[in-house]
This record gives sequence, structure tokens and C-alpha cells, in this order.
Amino acid sequence: MSLRVRFAPSPTGNLHIGGARTALFNHMLARRQGGTFILRIEDTDTGRSTPEYEAVILRELRWLDISWDEGPEVGGPHAPYRQSERAGIYAAYTQKLLEGGMAYRCTCTVERLDALRAGQEAAKQKPGYDGHCRDQNLGADCGPHVVRLRVPDQGETVVDDYFKGPVSFANAELDDMILVRTDGVPTYNFVVVVDDAHMGITHVLRGDEHLNNTPKQLLIYAALGLNPPRFGHMPLILGPDGSKLSKRHGATSVAGYREMGILPEALINYLTRLGWAHGDMEIFTKAEAVEVFSLEGVGKSPGKWDMDKLLWVNAQWMKRLAPERVAEALRPHLLARGLQVEGRDLTAVVLALRERARTLVELADGAAFFFQADQDVKRDEEAAKAFLGPDNVAMLAALADHLEGVDWTDAALETSVNQFCTAHGLKLGKVAQPARVATCGQKVGPGLFQTLTILGKETALRRLRAPAKNSA
Ligand code: GLU
Repeated sequence: MSLRVRFAPSPTGNLHIGGARTALFNHMLARRQGGTFILRIEDTDTGRSTPEYEAVILRELRWLDISWDEGPEVGGPHAPYRQSERAGIYAAYTQKLLEGGMAYRCTCTVERLDALRAGQEAAKQKPGYDGHCRDQNLGADCGPHVVRLRVPDQGETVVDDYFKGPVSFANAELDDMILVRTDGVPTYNFVVVVDDAHMGITHVLRGDEHLNNTPKQLLIYAALGLNPPRFGHMPLILGPDGSKLSKRHGATSVAGYREMGILPEALINYLTRLGWAHGDMEIFTKAEAVEVFSLEGVGKSPGKWDMDKLLWVNAQWMKRLAPERVAEALRPHLLARGLQVEGRDLTAVVLALRERARTLVELADGAAFFFQADQDVKRDEEAAKAFLGPDNVAMLAALADHLEGVDWTDAALETSVNQFCTAHGLKLGKVAQPARVATCGQKVGPGLFQTLTILGKETALRRLRAPAKNSA
């Protein structure tokens, strides 16, 4: 039987970094083993689920290049892949459980359940349903009711976890859980079982936070007479201090990292490496990881988020990728700053600046002067004071005149600037540094010839001449 795995996000928020890793590992395992990766939208929580969040999750998965074989937008033999559209399937399974006596209707009121809980808490007992309606055989005409699973009072349910080995749960600890709420909406543990079974899922690989749900789901499989899949609960991603990952550690969503200027290639690389290892593989593409991906390499302890490491990985990818690819990723960051880059080739900008930028945001910050109006270029006033005194201003004006007739390429500019230096008995640095401050506003920036070429003749010459106005 070929491997079928799934990622089943609830569209109640942005795609979390932990969810992205779950999706990624399932996707890579399916790709490695020639299996099928399914995306299922778990939107039964109608109060919190929104189509907007669903769209965001799909967009982020696509941004990360995590493709799915069955699911929303692509369809498949088990459609629909959105739980809100599968009510008929759940109703049929509910009926089956009720008719077989594995589930029962319960009309206990909220008041009764509250009183029960208060009594249990006062007596220092574990709160849970007491089975009041279990043997009352209530029919469909019993009025407002929930449907509960009949859970054995004795024995234990063992989750044979792929990563942890067997984990036992006493059935007495698991009360008769609700499968269908009073409003007719089925609960998460019920629909997840129906869907995983219906969709032929062979392996459920998900975050550790779901381990406590698994015995409940196993009991539902048993009640339905269905074979459960293999379960594996992966260690969580924590903050560097071992606490829950939160905003103060960087960002918790994929979107947050995109906004920070992290490349998807780098985020995939970092996320993979955070929970999985293969020899000394450190910088790799998703395709390279897929070649050797297996669950044996998945770590046993929680991965700790390390922002510096992510920035380092991103810096590697900034240099490693084709400049055209980095340019495409850079464009939205420049547009977000309101810069006019439509129709402009950004490849030369990337080549000029990527060695010193760790993120696309740093790259965009460093590149802004290329696209800003002269008066908007941020000027380092100290540098201006040091390098744009009257003598240098005159020298730059002469340089601008000298460059007037030159072919506007790196090589021709280099030759011409060198000629200018020789003619005036100046070292290159004495010309390049003031020229840089005049054109970029800063002491540090890309190489002078690249800067002049990218700025274009008109802007470059204008800025070489412009400091005269500001230096008085
Ligand atoms: N919908 C659940 C969640 O977003 C995932 C359930 C599962 O993987 O079984 O946490």
C-alpha cells in the first residue's frame, strides 16, 4: 500500500511556523516515497475559521513550494477537502455509531454538567462526564442533545507512537467524549478520524500537542471498526529559552518571516534542519533533502528557534541563488517602500549588494537610494561634512564633466575615473569616497562603478553635481 499523508490546518490564523514544518515533513516524506500528500482544511470551528485564513495558508504553502497532490484548488478522489463541505459524510458515520450502540444521545443540560463539574472539583476528583444518559437509549426525538462515544470504563488505550514508542492512556481517564454538538456540528476528534479513514491516510505525522487526542481518536477508530493509521508526534519548536515560541523570539508565522526578508529557500532549509539531520548536511535545497529524507533523521527533542542561525542560512541563500531569483524576491520589498521599480531590472542591484545583506529587507534598505528621488536619499551628515567640503564638491563637478561623454558601463566608467585620477594626481579613494557619499548619501555602499551604472547616467551625474547646493 503506498504512503498517504496529510497536513490538516485549521484556518483560524496565519500559517504557524510549527504547522509549516509539519506540512514540510509530510510533503517530503511523500515525495521521497512516491506517496501522496493531501491538504485538508479543518474548518468545523465555524466561529474561528475564515476563508481569508484558508487563503493565507494556501498562499504561504505555495510560497514555500510545498505542493499537495489532493486538496483545495487541486481536487482529488476524496473531494471535498474542506470539512465544512463534508457534513453528509459525518452524519452517515454518526448514524452508524448510534445504530450500533457505540454512541448515544445525551440531553444533559449545561446546568447539570456545571453542577457535576463543581461537585467533582470540590471532591478533588478529575472532572468528566458521569455517563448519566449512557443507558437511557434516547431516540432522535429526545430534544436538544449531543452525541457521545461510549468509552470503556476499564482497560487502556495504547498509542504506538512512531517516535516515542508505546504511550498508554487509562480509559477511565477518558470520559464519554462528545462527537456531535447540540447544534449538529461534529467535533474535531470525530471528523479527523472519519476523514483520515475515508481519505486512506496511512501515516499521521503531526505536532506533539496532539498526542493527548490520539487515544480518543483510536477509540473512535475502534468504535467504527476501522484500522487506524500509524501515528507519529513530532517534537515541538520552542523559543531559544525553551519556552513556547512567541513573537519576542522573532515571528511565529511564515508570513512574519517573509516580511522580515527571509527567502523561502532559506526558511525551508532552516525548518528542515531544525527538526531533522542527515550527516553534516547544512545548506541544501528541498530537492536535495527529499533525496535522503526519512523519519529516522527526525530529532527526538524539541528544536530551539535560533534567529541568528536562520539569518546565517538566509545570507547563504542570498549569495547562492541566481541573482534573477533574488531580484524577484526583492521586488515586493522595494514596492512596499513605495519605490518605483516597475519595469526595472533588479539583477545588477542584487549583484552589487547581496554580499553584505543578510535579508531582503537589508538588501532593500541598502538599495533604496537607487530608486529614491534625490531629496529623499538618506544622507549621513557626518560623512557629508567629512567628504563634501568645497574642494571635493568642485572635484566632483569636474568628474561629472569628465564622465559626460563616456559609455555608461562598469568597465568604461572604471577606465574613465582612473584617467581622471591620474590627470588630477589623486588616488582613487580620494575620488571614490566623496563620489559615493554624493551618490548614495553614505560612506559604505556598493562599488562606485556599479553604483554609477545602476543609477543611470542622468541621475549619477546630477548627484555628483548636486552636493554643491547642500554644502554651503
Ligand atoms: N486541525 C488540527 C490543527 O490545526 C490538526 C489536526 C491533525 O493534524 O490531526 O491543529
